[in-house]
Amino acid sequence: MSAPQASRPRIAVVGAAAAGLAAAEGLRRLGWDGEISLVGDEPHPPYDRPPLSKQVLSGTWEPERTALRDADQLAALGLDLRLGTRAVAYDPAHRALTLDDAGRTVLRCAGVIVATGVVPRTLPGGDTAEGLHVLRTLDDALALRERLAVSGRRLAVVGSGVLGAEAAAVARALGHDVTLIGTEDTVMGRVLGPEVGRLLADVHRAHGVTLRTGQAVTGIRREAGRATGAVLADGTVVEADDVLLAVGSVPAVDWLRGPGAEAAGLDLSDGLRCDEYCAAAPGLYGAGDVARWYHPVLGREVRIEHRMNAGEQGLAAARNLLSELDPERFGERRPFTPVPYFWSDQYDMKLQAHGVPAGADRIEVRVLGKDPLRLAALYGTGERATGILALGLPPRQTRSLRALVAVPTPWPEAVTRLTETVGT
Ligand SMILES: Cc1cc2nc3c(=O)[nH]c(=O)nc-3n(C[C@H](O)[C@H](O)[C@H](O)COP(=O)(O)OP(=O)(O)OC[C@H]3O[C@@H](n4cnc5c(N)ncnc54)[C@H](O)[C@@H]3O)c2cc1C
Repeated sequence: MSAPQASRPRIAVVGAAAAGLAAAEGLRRLGWDGEISLVGDEPHPPYDRPPLSKQVLSGTWEPERTALRDADQLAALGLDLRLGTRAVAYDPAHRALTLDDAGRTVLRCAGVIVATGVVPRTLPGGDTAEGLHVLRTLDDALALRERLAVSGRRLAVVGSGVLGAEAAAVARALGHDVTLIGTEDTVMGRVLGPEVGRLLADVHRAHGVTLRTGQAVTGIRREAGRATGAVLADGTVVEADDVLLAVGSVPAVDWLRGPGAEAAGLDLSDGLRCDEYCAAAPGLYGAGDVARWYHPVLGREVRIEHRMNAGEQGLAAARNLLSELDPERFGERRPFTPVPYFWSDQYDMKLQAHGVPAGADRIEVRVLGKDPLRLAALYGTGERATGILALGLPPRQTRSLRALVAVPTPWPEAVTRLTETVGT
């Protein structure tokens, strides 16, 4: 085991994707002139994930187009870029990061930013088979795309959340026979509520997707090591040439577990728990899908698996880490209080959500058209509006609706402004 000492102080960013890259770029932009080690276990330079279930899967984009930066832009950052390298341990007391490379290198760090994202959940038993897919990495997307390049496939998609819905839409548009299986009677209903979920289910049916709703998948049927179908709780089998598991994900924090983490009091349940500054411990910050942090405006902890949050939180973590290391030079730390945003593309629909629609206890839906589907929905928790959904609305209306959740707006006032904005 080698433990080289950096001649310059070092910040390590673990996870070389959207959040990690934003953190590394933020560190440089804000003036960090020490070493920056960007450690990523995938072999590829940082790339973007949203196109994987859209343009890459459909074959309209080649993989290179997902690159977040070109080689010159990366070189200009002057990074100690370690791709294909997994971080396997971190000891917060000694600020020592262990890498699983040939020398099992230990990096002494002034600070560490954890941006390791999430990994797909599998079915109980978690086994693998040829033709059984998940969709998280570029390599996952290319494997499924290769299968969908042959016409007339039968694809069973397990999970009717955003990822499953997007993949089903792409496969259907390519002309495949698609069955979308979900435990709820809706599509994306857990996030967007039952009424919107039912409308989205109707859109998928109208495009020829077979929906098997209200059904848990209990296993994968396989023949000669190849997946041939999904077994449902009622015992029936959805026959398929390929099965995509889109049943959620778990934060990639296992590498952080260990005596050092315990001694530092790290909370790794549902991601790396951070305070409002994105700090998990002195010198240790979290960003992106992996981070659960206290959002002071929402008044609770959240962990957000959205592309925009990854970029914003990477930068916020970088800024706050620098402020902790050198407050005189970098100023006070600032709480991270974004208005969350995500989008989804399915067929010719673009869904855009601001704030937090999930978990709302009141929802107002205004359907403005059914073919194509156009709607606005307002989500509230307690006495105030917490989220909005715009589907097929002009940008001006979407922006006005966003204002309802950018500053806390009392529910009755938000409903009135929803009506004024969409005119029904
Ligand atoms: C197919 C797909 C489509 C999506 N579409 C949308 C969309 O339309 N809109 C939207 O808002 N969001 C979308 N998202 C979500 C969005 O892409 C994520 O929120 C975003 O990519 C999170 O970025 P991240 O950097 O936090 O994590 P990730 O992108 O998961 O990156 C984490 C990186 O860390 C690496 N890593 C993990 N453990 C280690 C370790 N121990 N050592 C070194 N490296 C490690 C991982 O391999 C990975 O490369 C989509 C996600 C997927 C998968």
